[in-house]
Amino acid sequence: MLSTAEIGIDLGTANILIYSKSKGIVLNEPSVVAIDLNTKNVVAVGSEAKEMVGKTPQNIVPIRPLKDGVIADYDVTAQMLKEFLKKVSKKMGLSMRKPTVVVCTPSGSTTVERRAIHNAVSSYGAKHVHLIEEPVAAAIGADLPVDEPIANVIVDIGGGTSEVGIISFGGVVSCNSIRTGGDKMDEEIINYIRKNYNIMIGERTAENIKMEIGHANENHTEESTEVRGRDMVSGLPKTVSVSSKEVYSALKESLEQILETIRSTLENCPPELSGDIVDRGIVLTGGGSMLNGIQDWLSDEIIVPVHIAPNQLESVAIGTGRSLKMISKLQKAAK
Ligand code: ADP
Ligand code: MG
Repeated sequence: MLSTAEIGIDLGTANILIYSKSKGIVLNEPSVVAIDLNTKNVVAVGSEAKEMVGKTPQNIVPIRPLKDGVIADYDVTAQMLKEFLKKVSKKMGLSMRKPTVVVCTPSGSTTVERRAIHNAVSSYGAKHVHLIEEPVAAAIGADLPVDEPIANVIVDIGGGTSEVGIISFGGVVSCNSIRTGGDKMDEEIINYIRKNYNIMIGERTAENIKMEIGHANENHTEESTEVRGRDMVSGLPKTVSVSSKEVYSALKESLEQILETIRSTLENCPPELSGDIVDRGIVLTGGGSMLNGIQDWLSDEIIVPVHIAPNQLESVAIGTGRSLKMISKLQKAAK
């Protein structure tokens, strides 16, 4: 007899991951979908669509429907999810017959947005759909003892949002979400290069610069990289050399905003739990936690230990999948 599948989905603003209880991570793709405006058909999803960003003819537009941490476009998100579920069931041979699905939602999302996610997954034929808040999933995936009455602090720096949550006894004690994350950093790099070099670069180029030489600490060994873009005066392609100190100055404001959110969350922590944080520290996850120097910079700023979660890019998906077991215990799991 076919057992029904149990699936966890991390509906991230930059990347979507699907985790199956039996097979582990079965899909990990950018949350991008390319639509043909003439026919309204989906032309490509995931990596294939991300490759198209900034390179398509006018009738084909790559869309990131979750870009700012909310479902900007419900229809497109639903279509994208369906394409990914189809891909997983075909390629991985995963039984998609009436699966039980847990989807992780950004903690700042509204009831309407949650309902939209719920509907998108149900319409694919899921038998049961549960929603779990992102910080809880992130903490479970990072192997934190979320069931115990101790403060587990998780900081998830994603593409569109950064979330800071304190989880104790299976529930969210306090949580803050800001719409600043990796995307904002990329934008700041684009702005910096435009203002200082009169060169326009694309999002992909900015992201590569950030990953390559971006740094959270002002004091670091300086490096440089060649950056190619379009000269805004001549309109021709141009290459310039940009240093990591310059990139740092572009990233600084976004990092300060993330720091401020962490600080205020810790300040509002119930006193009984504050002691735990001093001892146990905080755990960073999400793609933004891969920025060079972020661990040392943060621990200097907040003066508590800072740890990096194992599998930063996968911990939310893994936690979402694992949460099935404890879903009934989750106090704040939204409907
Ligand atoms: P989401 O959960 O919102 O989908 P992710 O956790 O997948 O986001 O993280 C995506 C973000 O992490 C992107 O902005 C990406 O540029 C950033 N990122 C990935 N790797 C690195 C790196 N090595 N250094 C800095 N940022 C990174
Ligand atoms: Mg995420």
